Amino acid sequence: GNRLSGKVAVITGAASGIGRGTAERFAEEGAKLVLVDNNEARLLEAAEQLKAGGASVVAVAGDVSLSETADRVLEAGRDAFGGIDILFNNAGIMPVVSVLDMAEETWDSVMDVNLKAMFLLSKRVIPEMLKRGGGSIINTSSVMSTLTEPKYAGYTSSKAGIIGLTKAIAVEYAEEGVRCNAICPGWVDTELNQRLAVELGGMDKLYPIIKQQQPTGKMATVREIANVVLFLASDESTAITGASIFADGATSAF
Ligand code: NAD
Repeated sequence: GNRLSGKVAVITGAASGIGRGTAERFAEEGAKLVLVDNNEARLLEAAEQLKAGGASVVAVAGDVSLSETADRVLEAGRDAFGGIDILFNNAGIMPVVSVLDMAEETWDSVMDVNLKAMFLLSKRVIPEMLKRGGGSIINTSSVMSTLTEPKYAGYTSSKAGIIGLTKAIAVEYAEEGVRCNAICPGWVDTELNQRLAVELGGMDKLYPIIKQQQPTGKMATVREIANVVLFLASDESTAITGASIFADGATSAF
């Protein structure tokens, strides 16, 4: 397809899961990619695979919660492709720990990686978008922004904060054509959940929970989520900004 042809897209958390699947989907639609992740080996492997398929890709290895990484992402987009049109702020971590057991450092890291990183990159990228007459920012929140359960205080706080940041950026730059939306996935089949299954004692322990929470009874595929991101990134969604799109299979309670 050519739904993103000629567009330059930054994707964080691009070495795995939703980020990697979205990189593949964006490449299929003609986007040029700036891929960001702190897992350098896996990032380079993902970038090589996409290049082998014919995509234009640059990789930036780094921690998204650092200003220095955001500076390098901006430079990479400018140097390789002359600017940036799309920013998919997706990198995230999910500590599972009760409030009383949570170290202050754990709180800080989940807020820094999941929320502050989106501010740092948006601050760099919005001026580039304004130069090009507009752009689209998509932030990965979660169904856990609004529903939660014990041991997710840090994660839920960060994901709820993302919805606030998304609306704030949307209202500030709406007139100038920079859109900002959030996606709120429910259960998605990624390594994040495979790790969670291991922590819970196996997939057998995870599936009954999925069935109880998400009426579809199954995890969404990475490609299904990537299609939502693609819609928000493309000019098909120009009427939508400041929104949070729930891709959670009708989850209504935990
Ligand atoms: P994943 O663990 O497969 O991928 C996350 C990627 O982010 C990894 O490649 C990791 O190396 C990278 N990353 C982590 N910390 C980073 C940092 N500080 N700097 C740079 N890169 C970093 O997980 P996923 O399921 O694809 O998750 C992607 C996003 O989707 C996260 O924000 C997550 O909270 C959110 N989410 C996932 C689900 C789900 O069911 N999997 C549901 C709702 C929301």
